[in-house]
This record gives sequence, structure tokens and C-alpha cells, in this order.
Amino acid sequence: MKVCYFWSADWAIPRAAMKQHAPEAEWVYTGDHDGQYWQELEKRWGGDDLAVIEHDITIHDQVMPQFAACREPFCSFAFGMFGNGSVLATDSIGCVRYTADAQRAVTVTDIKSCARTLTDDGLHIAWHYIEAPILDAFSAAGIGVHTHWPQVGHREK
Ligand SMILES: [Zn+2]
Repeated sequence: MKVCYFWSADWAIPRAAMKQHAPEAEWVYTGDHDGQYWQELEKRWGGDDLAVIEHDITIHDQVMPQFAACREPFCSFAFGMFGNGSVLATDSIGCVRYTADAQRAVTVTDIKSCARTLTDDGLHIAWHYIEAPILDAFSAAGIGVHTHWPQVGHREK
């Protein structure tokens, strides 16, 4: 399983958790332009099982073991939508793992074709519009999100 930490801002608590619980992760900077998140995801899509953790998510010791053990195609840890409050995101791409099979079943072309908005150059999906087309493309392929618990932290400074 390849593990990536996609970041553009400095979130100290999430960073420390990554170093502790996923020291093997590749840190991928996505802050140069709005399309870079997609560009970097696209580059890594279609290979091994791929876990992507976004910069403001605080993982815990169960995240990598559960992702590695689960054979569902598209897995996501729940987290509080607005920090650590009670409104939960259970099908978000903030802390996800796509199996290799899932990436073959749903290609980057499939996802891009579900995007309503692309960057001005037409090449990428802007980072703030990425989640919906990913969910839509998986849904079209008959693949739902498998939610994992306990929830991970969100926006902890
Ligand atoms: Zn799962």
C-alpha cells in the first residue's frame, strides 16, 4: 500500500500524527496551483493500493492497519465535518484508501468525466471540487464507500 500525505498548509498536530503512525508516507505538496491536488492524485492512480490523507486530518494507530487489512475497494475514515464536532463526514476523501482493483475499475478518466468544473487550463479538477466526481464515479461503478471507525481528528491546530 502506498501512503500519501497531501498538504499545502502546516497543520502541526496532523503532521505529528503522520510521523508517528505512517512514517512511510510520501509527503506530497499540492499548494502551487488549484489543480495540483488532482495532478498529483492522477500521477499515483492505477498502481498499488493507495491511501491519501489530507493535511488537516489527524490519523490514529488504527488507520493504516485497518486500511491494510480491509478488502473493500473504497474505504474512508469518518471525521467531524467542522473540526471535531458531532456532524460526521462518513464518505469523504479526507482519509481514504483505494485498492489497486478499485483504481482499475474507476479510472482517472471516469472521475474527470464526472467533474462539472475543471481548472482554467481544462487539465485538472480544482481541489475543492474533487470529492463529488470521485464519489459519483465510484457510485456509477456500483462501488460504495466503506466507512471506518473510530473517527479521525479534523482541523486540530
Ligand atoms: Zn474498508
